[in-house]
Amino acid sequence: MTIVEQKRHLDAIIDRIEKARICVSEHHIVKIVAASKYVDADAIRSLYSIGQRAFGENKVQDLKTKADSLEDLPLEWHFIGTLQKNKINQLLSIRPHLIHSIDSLELAHALQERLSRENQTLRALVQVNSAYEESKSGFTPEEFVERYGQIVSECPNLHLQGIMSIGAHTQETAIVKKSFETTRSLFEQLPNATTCSMGMSSDFELAIQCGSNLVRLGSILFK
Ligand SMILES: *Cc1c(COP(=O)(O)O)cnc(C)c1O
Repeated sequence: MTIVEQKRHLDAIIDRIEKARICVSEHHIVKIVAASKYVDADAIRSLYSIGQRAFGENKVQDLKTKADSLEDLPLEWHFIGTLQKNKINQLLSIRPHLIHSIDSLELAHALQERLSRENQTLRALVQVNSAYEESKSGFTPEEFVERYGQIVSECPNLHLQGIMSIGAHTQETAIVKKSFETTRSLFEQLPNATTCSMGMSSDFELAIQCGSNLVRLGSILFK
């Protein structure tokens, strides 16, 4: 795509987000994190040049490589994948803006230990497996609010900002919607939470209508 085509394409996506968010409220603001795992640093640079600032990666090594080669740009990096404990040091060295995927108490405690040792803090979301899928990580909806509170009190260097979820993996809209509504109702029970991260290329409009205020868009932006 030429840069003009790319701009037109991004504008069309922003238009769709706009229509969905207005259904919720005029004051409902939605942030786009571009999930850049499919592309290299040049494609990120080019999306940056038409106004996109926030990018998300789901592998620590890829995040490191891309963040290093794009160091000259004021990008906001998000970590959106499953974090292995042996990658914590590398992730923290990049100083990401937000990690979306705290999916166990062990991970929260391991991050806390490292952060307090380095005298660092990290913004984070806690992941919920709201579709109850074996293949997905995250806390169950039943345990979520209690575990969130536990992380807040036991991990003071993790600054929790809310919730992240991946919609149900099905074409059936009613089931996807239900998983988003579950996430939204948990979000509303969290103290001081500001971010409800849900919605990807195939379901972002539905996610926004269900209350998402951060969408993670990959294939629709880059493919
Ligand atoms: C890849 C990825 C996305 C984006 O997925 P698309 O369907 O390509 O938009 C969103 N969230 C996570 C956690 C991802 O790994």
